[in-house]
Amino acid sequence: MSLPKYSIIPKPQKYDVLDGTYIVTSETEVLCVPEFMKAGKYISNFLKTKKDAHEGSIKIVKDTKIPAEGYRLKVSTDGVVISASDENGAFYGTVTLKIMLMQSKKASGVAVLNCAYIYDYPKYSYRGGMMDEARHFFGVDAVKKTLDNMALLKLNKFHWHLCDDHGYRIESEVFPLLNEIASKRKYEFLGGAEILSKIPGLQKGGNEYFHYYKKDEIREIVEYAKNLCIDIIPEIDLPGHTVAMLAAYPQLSCLKENYEVFCENGITKDVLCVGQDETYDFVEKLLTEVAELFPYKYFHMGGDEASKGHKIWEKECPVCQAKMKELGITKGKELQVYFNNRVNDMLKKIGKTSIEWNDGLGDNTDSDVVGHYWILRTPSWIKEENDKRKFIVSTCPSLYFDYSHAVVPLKKVYNFDVVKSGFVNDKNVLGIEFESWSEWIDTYDAWEFSVYPRVFAFAEISWTEDKFKNYKDFYKRLNFFKMYMKSKNINYSRIEKKLWLKVKNKTVFHLGNRGAEYKYNEKIKESENKE
Ligand SMILES: [Zn+2]
Repeated sequence: MSLPKYSIIPKPQKYDVLDGTYIVTSETEVLCVPEFMKAGKYISNFLKTKKDAHEGSIKIVKDTKIPAEGYRLKVSTDGVVISASDENGAFYGTVTLKIMLMQSKKASGVAVLNCAYIYDYPKYSYRGGMMDEARHFFGVDAVKKTLDNMALLKLNKFHWHLCDDHGYRIESEVFPLLNEIASKRKYEFLGGAEILSKIPGLQKGGNEYFHYYKKDEIREIVEYAKNLCIDIIPEIDLPGHTVAMLAAYPQLSCLKENYEVFCENGITKDVLCVGQDETYDFVEKLLTEVAELFPYKYFHMGGDEASKGHKIWEKECPVCQAKMKELGITKGKELQVYFNNRVNDMLKKIGKTSIEWNDGLGDNTDSDVVGHYWILRTPSWIKEENDKRKFIVSTCPSLYFDYSHAVVPLKKVYNFDVVKSGFVNDKNVLGIEFESWSEWIDTYDAWEFSVYPRVFAFAEISWTEDKFKNYKDFYKRLNFFKMYMKSKNINYSRIEKKLWLKVKNKTVFHLGNRGAEYKYNEKIKESENKE
């Protein structure tokens, strides 16, 4: 009888069990071609092997025939060989090996590895996750822990939402008021899980909230991510979601009022004045300062939920009205397209490719802007846009992990399909990304509760070809990762499958530590501890 397969998520495209075993110890040497050093370090750190290995019994080698980010992993009675054509592929080979080693039988410092042949490659080149630290701030350690776990799931893009109406979270030497004023709000949150069931009693909660990342901390995180083969994409959301910026620099607004950093939730009417030159000067200097911290080519310029601002441009701001006249346009939406195209030009000048949320896109949006699909559109809209430009897909609510587990259960994530969601084919789809907006996610504990274990289902659909997907099989493999999450103190949700039906208060958002789901989950955890 052959030995059982190890539980690997995302499921490898091909995994054959071979006869025999291979024994790995802390004496097992790792030999790695120099260009795959990240992979070599990753596995030797895990094994705590000696540094100056010359003859490897775990070999990491180059094979140009393997697809991008793919790898071949062969465990035989003679040793382990990982082959890849690029750095990410070699790294993912070691990630799979690490997961196998975690599950292998162990005795007195020795791991007995079942022999195997794995040939693997990703379905999508873009496999991302977003963290929103504008609404709530989690800090360096939380981000590093997140990146570690993303790497374990072969996710490769971390979209970092660092500014919004609720705060600006990046140190700025060019515009210091972005820290002195825009990084601070009067109180932390709105209390009361009742908001969405329309019961009154909404209250302010928490103290003054003042956080931002120092540039050195950002550099440290970017470097940390790089070693895990993860690219970081910053988002500076423009021209909407900018109330924090306007509080610091009201001259950037249409109405030049006194603004306060937003403490409530929802969409504001106050956006940047895009009729005046001063705004463009500011944006260009700011983007240049931020881009210097992030070496990856993609840069997210936001562009979402500015429609209330369009009304101000059309009806109240003479400067924006004059601009529209000059451009021969009549709609605020068209003015936003003009603005975002100018932002795209600024980003191109500094070597970046822009990403923009799909509700900001218009007929005349430059075709080199990557669309980020979240808000539902008709199949004909999708087809027309997708013929023109590349897309990242984050359809709401299926890939919105700030939604409650009752609304987006694990299986719904697993069954999500880009083609079924309206994209005619995925040739122009770079990949998928999960979102985790933090209006209601007030602690990192609550963030983990939102994201895990849904991120496992997400990782599998971002990597594994459809024909190899199977929810039952996935759910079985998840068992090992539940143990892993417990061992790493990851506060994953136990509310999945049918369990969620027991949650009476089915609000859309789980409302962080004060939400019904979170509290219910705490109860389940308590009973687990008694077992
Ligand atoms: Zn204006």
